[in-house]
Amino acid sequence: MTTPRIDRVLKEGEIGSSLEVRGWVRTRRDSKQGFSFIELNDGSCMGNLQIVVDADVPGYEDSIKDVTTGASVAIEGELKESPGKGQRVELQATSLRVLGTTDPETFPLQKKRHSFEFLREIAHLRPRSNTFGAVTRVRNVISRSIHNFFQSRDFVYINTPIITTSDCEGAGEMFQVTTLNVDRIAEISTKIDYAQDFFGKKASLTVSGQLEAEIYATSVGPCYTFGPTFRAENSNTTRHLAEFWMVEPEMPFYELPDDMDLAEAFIKTIIKDVLEACPEDMEFFNKRIDNTVLESLQNVLDNDFIRLPYTEAIELLEKCDKKFEYPHEWGRDLQSEHERYLTEEHFKQPVILYDYPRTIKPFYMYCNDDGKTVRAMDVLVPRVGEIIGGSQREDRLSMLETRMAECNLDPKEYWWYLDLRRYGSVPHAGFGLGLERMVQFVTGMTNIRDVIPFPRTPKNADF
Ligand code: ATP
Ligand code: MN
Repeated sequence: MTTPRIDRVLKEGEIGSSLEVRGWVRTRRDSKQGFSFIELNDGSCMGNLQIVVDADVPGYEDSIKDVTTGASVAIEGELKESPGKGQRVELQATSLRVLGTTDPETFPLQKKRHSFEFLREIAHLRPRSNTFGAVTRVRNVISRSIHNFFQSRDFVYINTPIITTSDCEGAGEMFQVTTLNVDRIAEISTKIDYAQDFFGKKASLTVSGQLEAEIYATSVGPCYTFGPTFRAENSNTTRHLAEFWMVEPEMPFYELPDDMDLAEAFIKTIIKDVLEACPEDMEFFNKRIDNTVLESLQNVLDNDFIRLPYTEAIELLEKCDKKFEYPHEWGRDLQSEHERYLTEEHFKQPVILYDYPRTIKPFYMYCNDDGKTVRAMDVLVPRVGEIIGGSQREDRLSMLETRMAECNLDPKEYWWYLDLRRYGSVPHAGFGLGLERMVQFVTGMTNIRDVIPFPRTPKNADF
């Protein structure tokens, strides 16, 4: 007897075959004629398998009372064509075993709609709900799609360190990693001697694997990192996490337009893969979460991304009559409301802004000849805003040194990064995509806390 997952049973289970299914009970209904209907879900898909259990099935009498919402069961049976609407097959049970009971009085996940806020408090049970099951499956397909996209283009997957002693952005707020007894130090001294610390100097959790990825891009060729990233920014928004996953491809011999082309193809491929692999889950998001999701994703697939210099974006914002909360002017970073105006209201499709003022971007971006801008690009998408940030990297040693001085960075700390420009420097470029922002974009989920299994945000690291 086989024990297939329920998605397989629903899609391709052979009528007349005998099988065992295992999962968690969504509902049970008892008929007056003395048999029961069980809706069973095992997390493999949105749909439940309907199971008919006659009263004479072994185990029925003793255990049917324990078959309550949330209980786990193993049921053997024969697959039948379903007379009911809405499903192709149902299982006619031949045996019933309860694996784990659930106290209906205390089980928090009842078969009704719960608020996302409440579900966050039960992050250990929320993946058993429809929405989080769907988010989890879509997130998985996105991760698979990311690897497929790069692997099929012969990019090399590399693992960059989580603990680092360099600060990639120069200004990023980082979580410190230490084995020093902080409580004790506070008692005896005001100064911390990092030479005594585990790594012999101040260490932190990484904010990006880019600098290390550049090392590999300029030796093994196009490569990508895909791992957890940490930012200690105290921003309580629906688009920021303290711990998130970032994909960072890095390509030698790429200039900014090549970087943009790759980013556009990348986003489109992920969307295509999700639509193909998760039609049922996507239908659910479109119906229950945001009924513009499918249309807007199709719109992304059908059109070229807009490419617009930052300077022209500022002119557009100046000309439009929308009132913004924050000011915009040349030389200032765009706020999320400005980005969303451009992509949601003005162009109504993804926009790649490029050539940003060098004063608002990190030291490693390539300086344009105008002396004012750098070859940076941000991909903005409706509903989310910035989803990708990237750039062509500065590959000229003297220019990089100038930029480091401008940013008050000590070249000694970055000696190895500068060596890449000293020995066989080549033009290269890359970008970073936040996995959770991509999941938000694809599913229409509005809060980033609801697209990662266990969100870490200010004052919250439960589970
Ligand atoms: P933002 O301006 O939205 O705060 P950023 O410019 O600081 O983002 P980058 O350093 O360019 O972000 O990081 C690359 C990508 O990583 C972003 O485009 C975004 O998709 C994602 N990202 C950045 N910070 C976060 C965060 N705190 N939580 C989740 N994803 C993030
Ligand atoms: Mn950015």
